[in-house]
Amino acid sequence: MDIGDIKKYLEEKGISPSFQRIKILEYLLTHKNHPTVDTIYKELMQLIPTLSKTTVYNTLKSFFEKGIVTVITIEEGEARYDADVSVHGHFKCNKCGEVIDFDAEVKNGYEEFLKGSIIDEKHIYFRGTCKKCAEKS
Ligand SMILES: [Zn+2]
Ligand SMILES: [Zn+2]
Repeated sequence: MDIGDIKKYLEEKGISPSFQRIKILEYLLTHKNHPTVDTIYKELMQLIPTLSKTTVYNTLKSFFEKGIVTVITIEEGEARYDADVSVHGHFKCNKCGEVIDFDAEVKNGYEEFLKGSIIDEKHIYFRGTCKKCAEKS
């Protein structure tokens, strides 16, 4: 997605595409590192000196409400954001802290248990030691 596409995408989702919002979504789409508010703020403040942490937080909140991002809460007290809203698994490495995507699906069984319930979100979380860190030790 280039800047023009991001702009159109935001408009389609009912969000007015300010420069800051475009840059925040662009960051998420190009980095795919599941950043926290802090990470995005630190990376973008060099580019946008007028940016505040509150703006980043509020932007992500409205992105979430419009289904543009998902919030990953694999770690207590640490919200991370993902512009890939398809259902996929997240693996967090306890050593380096990286959150890695993997293909996964919730399969069979839950429909019966949750009959009559309305599912808003699906999360698949794994934790452990990533390949890179496992090879080092
Ligand atoms: Zn690791
Ligand atoms: Zn992800």
